[in-house]
Amino acid sequence: MTGRVVALVEDRYELLYPGHRVVGAVQSAIFHRSLSGSEIDVSGACPDCAGSLALTYAEFIGRTECLGCEEAVLGHPFDPGGFERRGDAAVV
Ligand SMILES: [Zn+2]
Repeated sequence: MTGRVVALVEDRYELLYPGHRVVGAVQSAIFHRSLSGSEIDVSGACPDCAGSLALTYAEFIGRTECLGCEEAVLGHPFDPGGFERRGDAAVV
């Protein structure tokens, strides 16, 4: 796998320009969807105030929070790739 994407330089691998393009393409695909500030509706209600729930995603953590009292119902870390090829309901 050395040659076009990575090169073995002495005792370590270095990413060549095409390799950087590959990494950039993968990252732009994964991060294509703007997630910051977006909310996904979550069925159910807040156990404290019966308010509506929504999922937000920031800094690798998905949080289900109440829109009424902002109580966090659930927090779960996952990679942004978890949004790839999944609709909102599947993410939730
Ligand atoms: Zn609430």
